[in-house]
Amino acid sequence: MSIEKFTLEKVLSVHRWTNTLFSFTMTRPAHFKFTAGQFARIGLKVGDDLVVRAYSVVSSPFDETLEFFSIVVPDGAFTSNLQHLKVGDELYLEKIPYGYLTLARYQLPLPQDLWLLGTGTGLAPFLSILQDFETWQKYSKIQLVYSVRTQSELAYVERIQEIAETFGEGHTGFKFIPIITRDPSAQLHERLPVLIANGELEKVAELDFNADTSHIMLCGNPEMVEDTKEALKARGLKMNRRGEGNIAVENYW
Ligand SMILES: Cc1cc2nc3c(=O)[nH]c(=O)nc-3n(C[C@H](O)[C@H](O)[C@H](O)COP(=O)(O)OP(=O)(O)OC[C@H]3O[C@@H](n4cnc5c(N)ncnc54)[C@H](O)[C@@H]3O)c2cc1C
Repeated sequence: MSIEKFTLEKVLSVHRWTNTLFSFTMTRPAHFKFTAGQFARIGLKVGDDLVVRAYSVVSSPFDETLEFFSIVVPDGAFTSNLQHLKVGDELYLEKIPYGYLTLARYQLPLPQDLWLLGTGTGLAPFLSILQDFETWQKYSKIQLVYSVRTQSELAYVERIQEIAETFGEGHTGFKFIPIITRDPSAQLHERLPVLIANGELEKVAELDFNADTSHIMLCGNPEMVEDTKEALKARGLKMNRRGEGNIAVENYW
């Protein structure tokens, strides 16, 4: 990998949610322009090697710094090192952003209802999308559905409320719907595909999936993405291709 493709950026803050989840911010070089929903490629020197991984940007496209939300994979080549990150450390950032999990990909149907369905760190691109004023202007209903295993993994809850107040000021169609799959006492605790098939998710959202009005984004665990996609297709929704269709996906592995 050519090191010229990267700039060195400084870590400005680290926030640990649990032993296996943390967020960090770093300096944003002036040339790094991205669209909400895109991902960056971040590099870390491990010995003489540069190990690089994709990371969805959490920040608003308007922010002066870049924020990311990370898992720690035990023995993972990248995150077993990244987990020791401290303020002042340096990380490599590839100069250009990537990815098509952006609202610009939707042309038909016209924007009306937006469903953002994420598991675990798959929440990240949706936080960026929600920190873009255009999202709130374009969509009359916005459902943020965030599935985790345990209550302690439910990161960013307060920030989500703050974002809705700041960016969606006066908007009345936003709903935050957490799913906690290992907590039978949680209002929603089954896997997303099940909650779609049995109608529970729509009941809590007070909104139906509809091929004429829904834009649906899925992000995170590939098994969830695949099964959810199939559950939605069974309801008549279509993959978004060349601008047309309802469902857009991003797999994290
Ligand atoms: C487009 C894209 C965007 C991504 N954005 C993010 C992000 O914002 N935050 C983030 O933490 N990761 C993200 N990832 C995953 C990330 O690139 C790495 O896989 C992750 O940092 C682990 O790296 P690793 O070398 O430690 O383990 P790897 O060798 O890369 O992965 C080992 C295994 O860990 C599991 N795993 C990997 N990533 C995750 C995850 N995020 N959550 C749960 N289990 C996982 C999988 O079983 C995988 O096979 C993204 C991946 C892609 C393709």
